[in-house]
Amino acid sequence: MLSDYNLHLRTLMLNGEWHPDCNRCQSEEALTKTSKRTQSNNSFKQKAINAGYTFELNSVNAPLFLDIRPSNKCNLKCKMCNSTSSSLIGIEEQQKDPLITLEHTAIEEIKRNITCNTTELYILGGETTVMDEVLDLIEYVDKNNYTENLHFRTNINGTVLPDVFLSAITKFKMTSIAVSIDGYDEVNNYIRYPSKWSKIEQNLSTLYQLALENISINLRVCVTVQSLNILSLDKFLSWLEQFTPGIKVELLLLTEPKEFSIYMLPFAVRERIHQSLNRDYNLQLYRFKHILAALLKDNVDYSQYKNSFWTKSNRQDNYRGVSLEQTLPEVYKILKS
Ligand code: SF4
Repeated sequence: MLSDYNLHLRTLMLNGEWHPDCNRCQSEEALTKTSKRTQSNNSFKQKAINAGYTFELNSVNAPLFLDIRPSNKCNLKCKMCNSTSSSLIGIEEQQKDPLITLEHTAIEEIKRNITCNTTELYILGGETTVMDEVLDLIEYVDKNNYTENLHFRTNINGTVLPDVFLSAITKFKMTSIAVSIDGYDEVNNYIRYPSKWSKIEQNLSTLYQLALENISINLRVCVTVQSLNILSLDKFLSWLEQFTPGIKVELLLLTEPKEFSIYMLPFAVRERIHQSLNRDYNLQLYRFKHILAALLKDNVDYSQYKNSFWTKSNRQDNYRGVSLEQTLPEVYKILKS
């Protein structure tokens, strides 16, 4: 049975209207005519056609794609994230039940739905590499030889690479891994607390080498572009050019929470950042034009979120024993002004 939310969402979609939760794609399409939505629609259609589906309901006898979010278990509490996605944030916010997980029976049901006709397994968290149920599922797929027909997709935060995960990703027909890293060294450590840069560097290097040796592995770095990292984005991209030349980098403009948006920075600062970023990089950049266009948007005023930014950010920093002023002094000064 559909929830009220799902029903409302579907009704809006059928009427050709946007839901407020879809505002990232809406704003991207307004700027560049493309978005995750348009890409996913095209890719889903093509994959279904390739698999022989005709879009008649009775042509579908088993799931072709499995899109699974088993839990919010996460070992990080990124500044812009929330307790629905990270159990650690739930703990920090002293929630009664911070961990939200699928029942064991649901995971067993998912296993039963995987057949040799399943073509895609997409798993998101929380953090997939720290979830026992995900590692169990990967092991199950591997042991039952479903890997050779499967495209495995996941997003990880780069802090851990379990052996089960590393051994399976070379066996899938295709593996797409997005590693979320939001800046160089202390920028990432601060935003994606409590990441350790040396570990991120080591794990990115391992995945990069694996991707060079296995054409079936499609690796990309995913950056959530926000007020806290856009000033040093050029430095991070320059580091990636040296450390992982030619790697794919997807730049996602943060739209929520608004308190961490790039629009918290004054227009003159954004113009300056635009100039520093507007060059060629030895990287495969995705949605870069969208970031450049967003920097030059001069009719956006987020000053009403200033107080809530400081309330939220200071509360996080006090709990974690870190300081924006000491870690990112330039960003602090601009946001304070
Ligand atoms: S790694 Fe992902 S799920 Fe975990 S806190 Fe960061 S953004 Fe949230």
